[in-house]
This record gives sequence, C-alpha cells and structure tokens, in this order.
Amino acid sequence: MDQNLEYPHLLEPLDLGFTRLRNRVLMGSIHTGLEDRKKDFPKLAEYFRQRAEGEVGLIVTGGFAPNIRGWLTPFGGTLMSSWQVPRHKLVTSAVHAEGGHICMQILHSGRYGYHPLQVAPSAIRSPISKFTPKGLSAKGVEKQINAYVRAASLARDAGYDGVEVMGSEGYLINEFIAPRVNKRDDEWGGSAEKRMRFAVEIVRRTRAALGPDFIIIYRLSMLDLVPDGSNWEEIVQQAHAIEAAGASIINTGVGWHEARIPTIATMVPRAAFVDVTAKLKGETTLPLIAVNRINTPAVAEDILASGKADMVSMARPLLADAHFVQKARAGKAAMINTCIACNQACLDHVFVGKSVSCLVNPRACEETEINSEATKVADNIAVVGAGPAGMACALESAKRGHKVTLFDAADRLGGQFNLAAKIPGKDEFLETIRYFDNAMRAAGVQQQLGLRVNVDDLAGFDQIVLATGVVPRTPPITGIKHSKVLSYLDVINNPEAVGDSVAIIGAGGIGFDVAELLLVDTINGAGNEKEAFFKEWGIDPQFNARGGVENIKPEIADPKRKLWLLQRKNSKLGKGLGKTTGWVHRISLRKHKVEMLAGVEYLKIDDQGLHIRRDDKEEILAVEHVVICAGQLPQRELEEGLIAADKLFFRIGGAEKAGELDAKRAIREGTLLGLRI
Ligand code: FAD
Ligand code: NAP
Ligand code: SF4
Repeated sequence: MDQNLEYPHLLEPLDLGFTRLRNRVLMGSIHTGLEDRKKDFPKLAEYFRQRAEGEVGLIVTGGFAPNIRGWLTPFGGTLMSSWQVPRHKLVTSAVHAEGGHICMQILHSGRYGYHPLQVAPSAIRSPISKFTPKGLSAKGVEKQINAYVRAASLARDAGYDGVEVMGSEGYLINEFIAPRVNKRDDEWGGSAEKRMRFAVEIVRRTRAALGPDFIIIYRLSMLDLVPDGSNWEEIVQQAHAIEAAGASIINTGVGWHEARIPTIATMVPRAAFVDVTAKLKGETTLPLIAVNRINTPAVAEDILASGKADMVSMARPLLADAHFVQKARAGKAAMINTCIACNQACLDHVFVGKSVSCLVNPRACEETEINSEATKVADNIAVVGAGPAGMACALESAKRGHKVTLFDAADRLGGQFNLAAKIPGKDEFLETIRYFDNAMRAAGVQQQLGLRVNVDDLAGFDQIVLATGVVPRTPPITGIKHSKVLSYLDVINNPEAVGDSVAIIGAGGIGFDVAELLLVDTINGAGNEKEAFFKEWGIDPQFNARGGVENIKPEIADPKRKLWLLQRKNSKLGKGLGKTTGWVHRISLRKHKVEMLAGVEYLKIDDQGLHIRRDDKEEILAVEHVVICAGQLPQRELEEGLIAADKLFFRIGGAEKAGELDAKRAIREGTLLGLRI
C-alpha cells in the first residue's frame, strides 16, 4: 500500500487493545435522514461502504434513538427491538467488507425532540422545540438508562464494533449534566457528581453488559456555549468518571444546538475549537478526538502532530469526499473535494426534514442513484462557462469518455465562486475551484480561458452546454444611473472605493455578503483569526467560564461604515438564507449596527442619497453610495445566434434559471447533465 509521508500522524493506526483502527480519522456522526426509513438502509449501506472503501479509520453512524421518547422527530430512526437488527447488518457488513470499523451513535434527543413524547431531567422547554418535555421520574430515568444499554446490545448483535454515546450538543445526557436545565434535587440532580451520574451509569452499565471488547465512544460536551453550562472543573471531573465507567474513547462536543454562537459555519476559523480538546489532554488516559472545522489532511495532521488530540473527527468533509483518507495517503490531497462549511445541503436539509446531500458532491447519500451510465461515449463537447455548473458538467462528461473543452471569458475558473471567496470567512470557496481544476485536468478536460465565446467558436462541436451564469438585475429606480450607484460586482472587486455610508438595495444572500464585506475591517479583526472570532462571539479563550461564555462579553469594534440593508418584502430580512447560517448573518450585522429595513419602496436616487417610503412615510438615506444587490437574470447572449445557426444546446445553472439559483443547484445540474449527455 502506498504510504504518503506527508501525513504520518493522520495515517498512524490506533490500537485500542482489543481492536486496531487503521488510522486516526473518525467519520463523525451526521444525521442523513436515511436512518429513519427501513427502505433507505441499502442506500445507507452504500453510503458508508464508500467511506470505508475510502479508508476512514472509524465511522460513526447518524444518531439512533434508544426508544421513542428519544426520537428526534416522530418515527425517526431507533434501535430498540431485535426485528430492527437485520437492516443494520446491511450497513455493518458493507463497512466490514471494506476493512472498516463502524460504531452506532445512540442519541436520545431529550427536550430537543420535535414531538410531544419528549422527556428531560426537568420540564423546561427548549428554545428550538415547540413541545415542553415531561420531567422524568426516578423510575423514568432508570428506563432511559436501560434503553441505552439495550440499544448498545442490539448494536452489537447487528455487527457494530461499538457505540457512541451522545453526551453533548444539548441532548438528553447533556441536559442532565448542565445546571441550566437540570433542576432536580434527587440523586440525578444538584451537585455536579449527581448531574453527571446519568451519563456515568449509561457508560458503566453498557460496559458491564457488553464486556471489554466493544468500543464505547463518549461524546463529552467540553464547551456548551450557553449560560449555566458546565465549568472546566466539572468537565475534567466528568472525563475521569467516564473513563472509570469504561469508555474507550472520548470525543469532543462543542456548542448546544440552542447556542447563538456559530461552531461549524464557514466563518468559523479552521480547527477553531481544537484547544478545548487539547486542554483535556493529560487529564485522562483515553484517546481524545478533536472536532469542528477540520477539513483538510494538513489541518488534521497539524492537530495530531502537535499532540492536541489522538484522533480527528470529520463528518461533513467525508460527505464532500468519500475518498478523503485514501487520497491523502496516496499523495493526492489536491484531488480532495473539500467541504466548504456552507451547510447548504447537509445541515440545512436536516433542519427542514430533507435527506442530506452535499453542495460540492451531489452524490452524497445518493450513491446508489447518481451513477454514470456504462455506455461508451466520445463526443466533442463544448461547455461554455466555467462556474460551478460548467465545471461539474465538464468533469463528469469527461470522466465518461467525452472530449470536453471548457470555455470562460474570464482568465480563471470558478465564475461567481471567485466573488463569493472574497467575502470575509468564505475563502473556503476557492477550495472548490482548486478541486475542479485538478479533477478536470486528470479527466482530460481542455480549458480555454480568457475567451468570450461567440457562435462561430462553437462550430464543430457535437454537443454544446451553456453554463454562462447570470448578469446582475438593474431595478427600474429613478436615478439608477447616478454616480452614487454601484453594482455588487463593483463593490466586491474594489471595496476600498466605497464610501462610509452605504445603502444596499436587496437583502438576499449577496446583499448580506456585501454588507459583511463592507464591514470587513471590524468583522475580521486583526491578527490571530481564532482570537478575533472568540472575541467577536464572546467565548472565553481559556475555556474556564461556565459554558465557555459566562460573564464574557463580545468585543465589537465600532463599524467601519454606516450601512442600511433594504428589501421591499415585509418579511424578516434574511428569511431566505440557510436555516443553520441565516441567524449568524443576522446577528453579525445587528452587532455591527447595520440598519435592516423591510417593506421599503425605492423612490429615487439623487445627490441627496436614496429616497425611500416606509409605512407611508418618506425619508432620505443620505448615503455616499447605493449598492444594487437586487438578484440576477440569466446570461443568454449566445442563444439567439445558436438558434439561428440551427444548433442544439443544453442549459444549466444560472443560464437555465437565475431565480433561486445557488451553487447547490448549479453543481447538481452540471453533474446530472454530465452523466447523461
Ligand atoms: P456562474 O458562476 O455565474 O458562471 C458563469 C460563467 O460563464 C462565468 O465565469 C462567465 O464568465 C462565463 N461566461 C458567460 N458568458 C460567456 C461567454 N459567452 N463565453 C465564455 N464564458 C462566458 N451560492 C451558494 O450556493 N452559496 C453561497 O454562499 C454563495 N455565495 C455567493 C456570494 C457572492 C458574493 C456571489 C456573487 C454569489 C454567491 N453564490 C453562492 C452564488 C453562486 O456563486 C452561483 O449560484 C453560482 O456561481 C452559479 O453558477 P453558474 O455556473 O450557473 O454560473
Ligand atoms: P436573492 O437571494 O434572490 O435576493 C435578491 C434580493 O433582491 C431580494 O432581497 C429581493 O428582495 C431584491 N429584489 C429582487 N428584485 C428586485 C427589484 N426589481 N428591485 C429591488 N429589489 C429587488 O438573490 P441574490 O442575493 O442575488 O443571491 C443569488 C443567489 O446566490 C441566491 O440564490 C443565494 O441563495 C445565493 N447566495 C447564497 C448565499 C448564502 O450564504 N447561502 C450567499 C450569497 C448568495 P425584495 O424583492 O423584497 O426587494
Ligand atoms: Fe460541507 Fe457544504 Fe457539503 Fe455540507 S453541503 S458537507 S457544509 S460542502
């Protein structure tokens, strides 16, 4: 087997005594939605099989509830009866056939369940569920513990190498641990020791029931990021107790789901929370796993080489590329399709009840459906436009045997992703361009950049794909040609030229991004980006404060510019942004004193500024610049000529439909067309 010397720590096996993991990569748990229906288990098996084939050291499944009280949503995935075991065997045998190891995560949702049967240590409703939980009686507590042990035992019957006991993120176990929501005064509440007893009993009784040769990973919340969470002393105490109870590995948990601090979104610096895991090193002899925003082999290697953790957990990066580890081992890290932490096709899907996928890899969780046809193809194909749609189409069609030329008027690949990457915290988007560039070269795609294609350039091609993207919409506002008016293209390409007071017309994804860019100096802070991030969001850099946040005030510098962000609709601004990131953008802009106005009528733009009407009142926003972020229209300049020349063509991405366009749709359409053209 080729062994790449660049990542020796990442690729080093981990000996647990009774079993040996082939490297230090844990595929972290992510709820795909496929766990919830029996008919989806063949898909789930293929999804995990590919990750095992890609040489992941240890896989953890999405969460399975140990009983119906622990459902995340009604009829969500459970493992509570022997009749459910055979479906899980499909998964475990697929992983074992590839030489992999797999643990099942046991997740009891507690008060985060979205159903009326939920239970919790105390009857306190969470801000993210409309149901108030039933406070557990002492007998009820025993029942939940027994359910965990039964689930673990069934998991072993199903062939799993172990279980992960989910003790973090604000789910049931974490609810017992934190004084925030455990208001009991019996043997399961009160002192720290009593609050953690529920967790300890689960691990202790699971170990006792299953014997020594079964992996028990315990996910310990090391940084709750909510008031009245655990303090550091309690976290260390918990780690000691969990080790004594028989766990094999401790995984790190960061942030309750109700926390209003981003922990995995793209603006969170890479490996931002690794130091919390590192702080626990030396306090326990168990291997420790670092988590969150670890998305390249280099970042992972760095963490392991510096001794901050013994394993790294990556969940989304393995959705994005099933063969991440294999590529790292074979010296092909540049061919890894990197997770850009957008959450758009993974967590945003979870929160609206859709099956998970991945923006940069639409095959994720659809491995049995999105496959290339076995037919032999060798057409001469022109793909016009090297944005996400065009790159995906060119790559997939070339991999199938077509001779593909990819054109772009710009002198670089990537289309609008080059603009996205200039927004603070979104530089990860460049990784997608890097991936497509390398993958397309390997597949033999010819790149013709710096050429604005006309109809004559397309003569001689058997098939033509128009992936020409979009042009910004110019709204019909009086004075739209005034020198104060800039398009978002002007601003993103030259933010320095923008004045100190700015009105942004349009509060979609681009309007929000432009606002963040215009605040860049204050949002990004200076120097160490982790330090700046912790300061901005009010996280104790020493992790000593209770929950990591108690008495820590966010430090926000005065905004660089005065901004107004405007829309015509009456709805809340940013409503259309992703479920898991929209709130981050809203909080961030609010903290920087951006005025967000809905229900705006644009009257005119003149030397005085932008004249608007709201609630029947007219006012003038006396701004230096007005930036137009009012959506886009398809770029179809080639079509008339192609039709006149009797040439057939396909359209994908923004060229096909500009409304509701995002890169998720662009890449998916490009991939699907590339597989059938
Ligand atoms: P484009 O990316 O627009 O690419 C079209 C390409 O065609 C261009 O490179 C253009 O030069 C080329 N072209 C056009 N005509 C010709 C011609 N005649 N000859 C040669 N070349 C031609 N989406 C998300 O999903 N998430 C985000 O977080 C996100 N953030 C964004 C932030 C910003 C600031 C911007 C501007 C966009 C963002 N987007 C985001 C949107 C995303 O980038 C687009 O949806 C996506 O790029 C559309 O892909 P596309 O391939 O259809 O078109
Ligand atoms: P968008 O999300 O459709 O927003 C367009 C904005 O322009 C809306 O606020 C709309 O609000 C306004 N508008 C539309 N027509 C107008 C008109 N005639 N006059 C004045 N205002 C008008 O589009 P976008 O911001 O251009 O973003 C493009 C795509 O990129 C989106 O699909 C988005 O998902 C994606 N993107 C995503 C992110 C992300 O973080 N996920 C970031 C950037 C971009 P009113 O009609 O209410 O005025
Ligand atoms: Fe990563 Fe975005 Fe894919 Fe989710 S959708 S795995 S965040 S690239």
